[in-house]
Amino acid sequence: MEKTNKPKNQKFANFIKKNLYLILMIVCVIAIATMVAVTYALKQKGGAEDVIDASITETPAPSDNVPVTVEPQPDPITTEPVAVVEEVLFSLPLDGETVGVFANDTLIYNATLNQWATHEAYDVAAEVGTEVKCVYGGKVESITTSVLRGTEVVVLHESGMKTVYSLLGSDVSVTVGQTVKKGDVIGKIAETGTFEKHKGPHLHLEVWDAEGEKVDPMQFFESSDK
Ligand SMILES: [Zn+2]
Repeated sequence: MEKTNKPKNQKFANFIKKNLYLILMIVCVIAIATMVAVTYALKQKGGAEDVIDASITETPAPSDNVPVTVEPQPDPITTEPVAVVEEVLFSLPLDGETVGVFANDTLIYNATLNQWATHEAYDVAAEVGTEVKCVYGGKVESITTSVLRGTEVVVLHESGMKTVYSLLGSDVSVTVGQTVKKGDVIGKIAETGTFEKHKGPHLHLEVWDAEGEKVDPMQFFESSDK
């Protein structure tokens, strides 16, 4: 039936049947050749480098750019205080014997006042008249005299920190507002103050940070001076 009704179709079908194998083979050959060519081309472009290239192409995405942009911002903020802290290095106010250290968490008996108290200062004993030198450059903020603390000179430093020289004689070598350098004579050891009289004539040196908190002066001296 088919042969008689559709001789042309039969002829075409035969043609297709004969050529189908050829067509399929050509298609297969082209497909295989293409795959081989693509694979070879990729390997040629850079085998292992392809992996690196791929990771580089993926990582520069916004997620990586953001931390890179953020990092430089805290840098100047971190650098500034660090630079200020590193610059603070005291020279010795005088050559003498240490008769009191900083103790803000321990009560120390004060024989003069007959009471237990913290001692937030560094005490150096020396003979009356010994020159007391500025430990760090700044500006004289105030000069006061009281029965307990004798004559007291407060030097304000650039960072807001202050150094306080207590128990000095009234014959100080500086005036309020004067700029002082490390090593400049501020005053002399005396017996004016009474609150630590049991230690003999000495300098009572306090350090106040920018917030007004008393801190250990020893941390600012060179380790060889301690
Ligand atoms: Zn003291």
